[in-house]
Amino acid sequence: MESVEYLFPATDGLFVTTMSDPSRTAISVVAPCFNEQEVLPEFLRRVGAVLDEMGGVSEVVLVDDGSRDRTWEVMTAAAAADPRVVAVRLMRNHGHQLALTAGLSVCRGERILIIDADLQDPPELLPDMMALMDGADGQGSADVVYGQRRQRDGESLFKRATAAGFYRLINKLTDVDIPADAGDFRLVSRRVLDLLLAMPERHRFIRGMVAWIGGRQVPLLYDRHARAAGESKYPLSKMIRFAADAITAFSVVPLMASMTIGWIMAAVGFGFFIYSIVGWLMHATLPGWASIMAAMGLLGGMQFLMLGIIGAYLGRLYDQNKGRPLFMIRDIVGGRR
Ligand code: UDP
Ligand code: MG
Repeated sequence: MESVEYLFPATDGLFVTTMSDPSRTAISVVAPCFNEQEVLPEFLRRVGAVLDEMGGVSEVVLVDDGSRDRTWEVMTAAAAADPRVVAVRLMRNHGHQLALTAGLSVCRGERILIIDADLQDPPELLPDMMALMDGADGQGSADVVYGQRRQRDGESLFKRATAAGFYRLINKLTDVDIPADAGDFRLVSRRVLDLLLAMPERHRFIRGMVAWIGGRQVPLLYDRHARAAGESKYPLSKMIRFAADAITAFSVVPLMASMTIGWIMAAVGFGFFIYSIVGWLMHATLPGWASIMAAMGLLGGMQFLMLGIIGAYLGRLYDQNKGRPLFMIRDIVGGRR
């Protein structure tokens, strides 16, 4: 198999910004892949068809996030067959957001389409996204065009309900407007991408970081389909971690919660104090065991909860402070450079 020499980023995980070379690459499609051997051929066929139709110079950057199946073999075969395909392999599994970050740091397009490899989000929307970015809605050009789901096929009621609750919560806790019903499926300009890559945070919630950047961000409504093949790589445990990363990255309100709870507890305690004085004056003895145990349990629980919240932030601070690379690239194969 012929593999074209490819330049690594200067240091793995440290970003080299403005890699774009518009005369050469107009569009990059970037997709992280974890055990996606079943779906990749169909993904490449559909993305390839869209890019063929659009013309111009484009690339498809696929990131193998430490897959344990034949994902890498499928990718390198595709890279050998099509000079547009760039296959990036990470040293190990880094998780969706960091794998995506690796792909974004490697891509060179003037505009970048972020998409999952499982075809839940149709690549055929790319021309519409391009038009919207050019100002097809008559309100000027856009910096970001994000896909917003009109309906979600093949997702459980549980996933939809937790997602709705999560977006409501995070928008309450932060000043950043993070659109509900939007994933990472979006077209971003090189300017926005460079800003995104300049953010060194390790626990990344990319859709929130893009929203935080601002500029003009417009939604494109679409129907989200069920996965084309394979199964979800986001079990509940990963979803919970992802939600915790998002909240701690965008809000310090939970850290302050102990103050609110402290005030409430103090008020309740004061109420009980008055109550016991009055009881003492009226010679009414108070059978107090149950209420004391309840108060102890409640207070103990609250204290551990608050310690846990502090720990959640402290742990992330510790991780960030170590300053390790966000991702480690093992191989890059293909591409026309
Ligand atoms: N993914 C990844 N690394 C992981 C988990 C997922 O690169 O550790 C990729 C996966 O291959 C897919 C995308 O992230 O392209 C979204 O994952 P998935 O479709 O399984 O999540 P869901 O849509 O079920 O939330
Ligand atoms: Mg999916």
